[in-house]
Amino acid sequence: MKKLLALFAVSTSLAGLTGCINIEKHTTSTSPRPYPLGDKCVVSGDKIDGNGIRFVTNGQEVRLCCKDCRAEFNKNPGKFLAKLN
Ligand SMILES: [Zn+2]
Repeated sequence: MKKLLALFAVSTSLAGLTGCINIEKHTTSTSPRPYPLGDKCVVSGDKIDGNGIRFVTNGQEVRLCCKDCRAEFNKNPGKFLAKLN
């Protein structure tokens, strides 16, 4: 029972960290490459205010300033991931 509670606590804190954004399920257990652009959005080039949007895809941490940029990123993730490598 204790184990279940611990799992619940972990998933709850993860949800708190990522807000409404789901961490992609296909990431590996190795830690992701850090986002290299600091507080600059890779899609728009704007400064990311506050936490912005943060997620990990293909082992790469990605930060975006807004939902619109997330939608844009999803249209062509390879193009933006290439900018982060
Ligand atoms: Zn943006």
